[in-house]
Amino acid sequence: MIKGGDTYYALASPAGRSAISTIRISGPKALLTVKNISNRETKYFTHRKSVFVNIYNENNDLIDNCIVVWYRAPNSYTGEELVEIHTHGNPKIIQNIYIELGRQGLRLAEPGEFTRTAYLNNKLDLIQAEAVSNLINSQSDHGIRLSLNNISGNLSSRLVDLKKTLIDSLVHIEYELDISENDSYTNTIKYVTETVNGSLLFIKTLLETHRSAKVLSDGARVVIVGAPNAGKSTLFNSLLSYDRAIVTSTPGTTRDSIEGALYISNYSILLVDTAGIRKARNKIELAGIKKTNNEIQNADLIYCVIDSTKKKKAPIEKAGAPIIYVYNKADLLNDEHIHNIKKTREESVVISAKTKVGISRLKQKTSELLQKKFIQKNGFYITSARQQAVLKNIETILNRTLFLDTIKELELVAVDLKLAIEQFDWLLGKTTADDILNSIFSDFCVGK
Ligand code: GDP
Repeated sequence: MIKGGDTYYALASPAGRSAISTIRISGPKALLTVKNISNRETKYFTHRKSVFVNIYNENNDLIDNCIVVWYRAPNSYTGEELVEIHTHGNPKIIQNIYIELGRQGLRLAEPGEFTRTAYLNNKLDLIQAEAVSNLINSQSDHGIRLSLNNISGNLSSRLVDLKKTLIDSLVHIEYELDISENDSYTNTIKYVTETVNGSLLFIKTLLETHRSAKVLSDGARVVIVGAPNAGKSTLFNSLLSYDRAIVTSTPGTTRDSIEGALYISNYSILLVDTAGIRKARNKIELAGIKKTNNEIQNADLIYCVIDSTKKKKAPIEKAGAPIIYVYNKADLLNDEHIHNIKKTREESVVISAKTKVGISRLKQKTSELLQKKFIQKNGFYITSARQQAVLKNIETILNRTLFLDTIKELELVAVDLKLAIEQFDWLLGKTTADDILNSIFSDFCVGK
């Protein structure tokens, strides 16, 4: 359990050997501690300026030559007195400094404690704190951008505005209930209904962005499906540029899904090769096809591979995710045939997985579709399951308030609006139970 008033430390850079490592210390004794272990006066340290110091052990033996930056409270990441010690990146040096810090009465930080303290000191709200975690874990440039946008407070201030609108509606209702003039309540109902409808619309848009945020931060699941022998594994290998999947000319060989990671124009992609779709001939094949159908349900984008030399229909025509029809084996076709295929389907790409002709067009089409489906024009994204759950609560409460048409029901609406406003405080973290905070910050690494 975290105790207030402690001074704590952790490695802020990855463990292991590196040119430089950074130890972060936060708490009231941070400056006093570096003064003690460097044999310097406190006046040697200036707020936000780096200074060179030698750090010694209790026998006055040199541990390392370091750069130290001191941040005076409250102008630091945590809002507390904070010191960063940049050492040479040798784990033994870190260990020796840790021993000295322990001797000075400091303790090791808990996971996420620095950001948690920043939150408790009103340096950031919970949405911004979650964005910090997202920023560190993001797999793509797009994910980094959306996390930085949330850290900047754009989403938070939009949510604060939304909360203000609901408070305003509540004020209208309270006024109406106080003066009890029957002839004006229809206007109040009209005003409240409009406001609530507007808020619901924005919340609905926000809820839809959760999937996009996941795709942009963690990567898009692109699933390759098609009939056996259409060339799925060959395409999988071509895109990954190495022979990961086994390519064979015996139909129905890939029975399990195989995954590989790659980047397509700043999107992180998890490519999934699946068992071919056809009428199963045995139990194992049936299980493979069942798995393929599950993959189709979980896909963010589907490549439906078709052997262009065969007169067969595409095995899937509809799915929740967008589909690119990939007409393969173009090296076996004449120009007229290729031209005809391009004419029949808009979302089609003609390629030869074997010779790699058309692969760059497929990549371009992929990035266009991902952009269309997942990049939000307004830049607002909700990034955690917690944010999604609280917004869903608000949506449910507000939907309830729309069914009012008498002054008596206005009292009930006032109760619901108060509930919805409270939920905004949960969302931004103004009133948050300890166990919720624990679960949010325990996902952070030590040192963050
Ligand atoms: P899968 O069952 O859909 O995964 O198909 P494979 O990738 O295993 O390919 C089946 C057969 O088609 C193999 O003999 C491949 O060499 C061949 N093949 C795949 N792509 C092409 C292509 O673009 N052109 C030609 N000529 N053959 C291909």
